[in-house]
Amino acid sequence: MSVQVVAVTGAASGIGRATVELFAERGAQVVAVDVNEVELDKLSDVHGAIPLVGDVSTEQTNAVMVQLAVREFGRLDTVVLNAGIGGGGALESPGAIDRFDRILAVNVRGTALGIRAALPALRASGGGSIVVTSSVSGLGGDPLTWAYNASKAAVINLVRGAAIDFAVENIRINAIAPGLTATALTAGVVSDPAFASAVTERIPQRRWAAPREQAEVIWFLASPAASYVTGVVIPVDGGLSAN
Ligand code: NAD
Repeated sequence: MSVQVVAVTGAASGIGRATVELFAERGAQVVAVDVNEVELDKLSDVHGAIPLVGDVSTEQTNAVMVQLAVREFGRLDTVVLNAGIGGGGALESPGAIDRFDRILAVNVRGTALGIRAALPALRASGGGSIVVTSSVSGLGGDPLTWAYNASKAAVINLVRGAAIDFAVENIRINAIAPGLTATALTAGVVSDPAFASAVTERIPQRRWAAPREQAEVIWFLASPAASYVTGVVIPVDGGLSAN
């Protein structure tokens, strides 16, 4: 077995959930972190993951995530920092800067805290892999997603810088940049068929990703198959960013 113990944030839904399922199927032991207690409990019942209800923008959640992995499973090999929120709305709309602050707290601060918390346990394992979920929105712009775009661009350079800092310790840090993936986050797009079809037309593969297609690339980056890969951002987007 290549990945023994993994912690996944944003584990209760979408890409995080698919990641928990895929890693558990392949024999990994999982700590699953999310704010959504109800969905997290269902996931744990099926896949034996240790649930942690918590907000990734707090130091405490990230510290407990690592403590749980070490206490329950004796080590930590991989951390998937996937929790994220969208929204933002128009820059001039009421409350826009408060929403911006929250998006940055979850998407960027949460990622930095997760990396920071994981380092001692990964060192103790002789190295490890951190995979961050960025977005194609971090590579380019879309209407009304300025706050989300900014957060996802920030995590890309967070990943690159941290990858350089910890590479010598055999700690690899990479990101995926998903394109449109059918999850709760994108349910609003699907609910408008005309908009959804216009969006799909822009994707060279002419379809959205299934969450599992993102999880497969996360698995690759976590696995020994990617042992010489660090500091990269892999678009998983059906060719969208090649346009
Ligand atoms: P999702 O909404 O289905 O799942 C996100 C999960 O994160 C939810 O279970 C939610 O409860 C959890 N979460 C939110 N805030 C949290 C917090 N503060 N602490 C802990 N958990 C929290 O969305 P998804 O599409 O699976 O998104 C996963 C990641 O993929 C996000 O970072 C998102 O930005 C990114 N992404 C998604 C798409 C897409 O098309 N779905 C595209 C690009 C990037």
